[in-house]
Amino acid sequence: MVQTGQIVSLEDIFTQGLKIKEPEIVDILLSGLKQEVLGIGFVQKQTDAGEKSRFKAIVAVGNGAGFLGVGGGKARQVRSAIDKATLNAKLNVVPIRRGCGSWECGCGQPHSIPFRVRGKCGSVAIEILPGPRGLGLVGGETPKIILGMAGIKDCWTRSFGSTSTLGSMAYALYEAVRNTYRVVTPKDWVA
Ligand SMILES: [Zn+2]
Repeated sequence: MVQTGQIVSLEDIFTQGLKIKEPEIVDILLSGLKQEVLGIGFVQKQTDAGEKSRFKAIVAVGNGAGFLGVGGGKARQVRSAIDKATLNAKLNVVPIRRGCGSWECGCGQPHSIPFRVRGKCGSVAIEILPGPRGLGLVGGETPKIILGMAGIKDCWTRSFGSTSTLGSMAYALYEAVRNTYRVVTPKDWVA
C-alpha cells in the first residue's frame, strides 16, 4: 500500500487502524529518523548443549517530532543485537501526542505533553507530567533520551521500582508516552 501510494504518511497507517509490518515503511514515510542505543546487556542461558550467551540491545528510534519506537534484540554479536533491536523499534513506532498541559505555562505550543501519563513494565512504573516552557526534561538519563527523541522538550518524570532494569525502564517510558493517545479521534490528526 505504501508502494502504490495508497498510504502516503504514517498518520494514514494509524488512522486506518493498520500496523507497521515492515521496517522499510518507517524509513520511507518518516524522514529525519534517529536511532539511539539505550543499552547493551549480556544474557546467559543454560541449555542442554551447554551455556549459551548472547548480547541484548535496547534501541529507541524517533523523528524528534511526535513519533517514537522502542525495541529490543538478542544475538551472539553486539552488532546483530543492535540491528535486531533497531528493526523492532521501527516496527513499534507510534504517534505521540504533544501539547502544553502545564497550567503554569498555557502557551498552547506542542513543547510538552497534554496531560499526565503513566506507564508500567515489569517492576518499573513511570509518571510523566507536563512542564512549562524552558523547564527542559527533568529525570534520569533514559527518560531524557527517549522523550527527546519523541520531540518532547519540557516535562517532569518520576520513576518507581527497579529503575536500573534498562529494558523495563525503556518500555515503561514508551508505554507512558503512548498513553498520550489513549483516545484517538480523526480530529486529532489535523495539525
Ligand atoms: Zn506551554
